Amino acid sequence: MRDWLAVRADATPGATALAVADGPDRSYDELDERVEVLAGRLAALGVGVGDTVAVCLETRHEFVVVVHALQRLGAVLVPLHTEQTPPELRTRLSAVPPEAAVCGAATEAALTDAAETTVVTVDEPTADARPLSGVTPEPFDLPEWALDEPLAVLFTSGTTGEPKGVVLTLGNVLASATASAFRLGVQRGDCWHVPLPMYHMGGLAPVYRSVLYGTALSVQSTFDAEATAERLRNVEATAVSLVPTMLERLIAVGDLPDLRFALVGGAPCPASLVERAHDRGVPVAPTYGMTEAASQIATAAPSMARAHPHSVGYPLMFAEVTVVNDEGVGCEPGTVGDIVVDGPMVTPGYLDDETTAARFTARGLRTGDRGYRDDDGRLHVVGRSDDTIVTGGENVDPTEVEAALRAHSAVDACAVVGLADDEWGQRVAALVVSDGDDTTPDALREHCRERLAGYKLPRTIGVVDALPRTASGTVDRDAARDRLSECQ
Ligand code: ATP
Ligand code: MG
Repeated sequence: MRDWLAVRADATPGATALAVADGPDRSYDELDERVEVLAGRLAALGVGVGDTVAVCLETRHEFVVVVHALQRLGAVLVPLHTEQTPPELRTRLSAVPPEAAVCGAATEAALTDAAETTVVTVDEPTADARPLSGVTPEPFDLPEWALDEPLAVLFTSGTTGEPKGVVLTLGNVLASATASAFRLGVQRGDCWHVPLPMYHMGGLAPVYRSVLYGTALSVQSTFDAEATAERLRNVEATAVSLVPTMLERLIAVGDLPDLRFALVGGAPCPASLVERAHDRGVPVAPTYGMTEAASQIATAAPSMARAHPHSVGYPLMFAEVTVVNDEGVGCEPGTVGDIVVDGPMVTPGYLDDETTAARFTARGLRTGDRGYRDDDGRLHVVGRSDDTIVTGGENVDPTEVEAALRAHSAVDACAVVGLADDEWGQRVAALVVSDGDDTTPDALREHCRERLAGYKLPRTIGVVDALPRTASGTVDRDAARDRLSECQ
């Protein structure tokens, strides 16, 4: 395959590639021309076929241009978290390690500190200069891509430990884009708005998809309910990708344009939120995905979500999702087990071979998530197996304790984790966000006592203003554990 943008620009040169708020949109022809120049400049800096290039940039047009320029050069994109400290960046970089690194003004200091390779910034002293304006472009060979070649290496969010480097091939990203379109449709005039970081697959996937589909992309470096609602109206967006906390804030401000879908995933999206969003005219499509599956693996189209707000829908086309018990045997409908995924969108492996060997089975990749298929085959995600708390030899599912706490009218949100305990191995602990006065730890324990067996009761309870979250919106369980150890 040639790079996708080249084919797209030949086919629909005048179609909108980038929808710009309060300014002229950029066509595929214009995007292609920018990409060609940047690819020539990166080639002059020595980037070529098979090279890995770290990119530490906010969600902005330059990121999009870099993504396509790397594909044009046959190089592998390695997006890095923009908020990371130099030691964290160093750990990520040493796992790769890249031939070059691209950053912006905001990330330059940290990346220069951490990287042992050439670091170039796409920010120029003057606003009208093109990225790397000081470098004269050089001609480069056009690579041909095979489906099994790595297109990008992305790091997982690090919810359950150190982020893991996931290799995604051209075929993975193509299968993901195709399967997503088969579920959500593609329409002429579509404009997909992305207020998510592009170092996560949820933010990056629409960059590749819009070029494959020939539709418009709109990007925003940070989510802000008012500003994002305004942007959605301004660019006449038809689709948006969000994590559940963003959806909650967005529907609170109201006045949104008619969307075809709001793709919401990365963390559990409560059924009540799905229902409220639909009631306010936001057609939510809850999705279950992960870095390892190049984003979505199961998605409920909006009409399905409205009727079944508890589920993340059916697996996408080509995707195989099985729920297995501890012996690896498939579970009956309604029985919770480990979720295993397989299909052409699933990574061939992690950077670290040991992790690959530990996570892949004959049925596919063990996700570390727990869930079940209902009688009609729809998938329900209930939590993570890695989160199971073992206290005095008893297994406690934190989602069950969280549900009991949430049943208290003054509890807005909560996270239940295990804390190391000399006597019990682990003890159940809960971080609670509450808007009432009667939520002392004792009152909350009393409330839970009516619903849970004694060993499941949270021994340590901390009341906080907000739960610590990772950039993708999942509860940061390590940080929650840290906060709770201070509560003792
Ligand atoms: P790490 O693998 O480093 O612990 P992570 O799993 O959070 O981090 P990501 O790949 O960004 O990293 O997130 C994928 C995970 O997010 C899924 O495995 C699942 O646990 C969670 N998730 C995604 N969508 C949903 C959903 N709709 N409902 C519940 N959980 C979800
Ligand atoms: Mg994970």
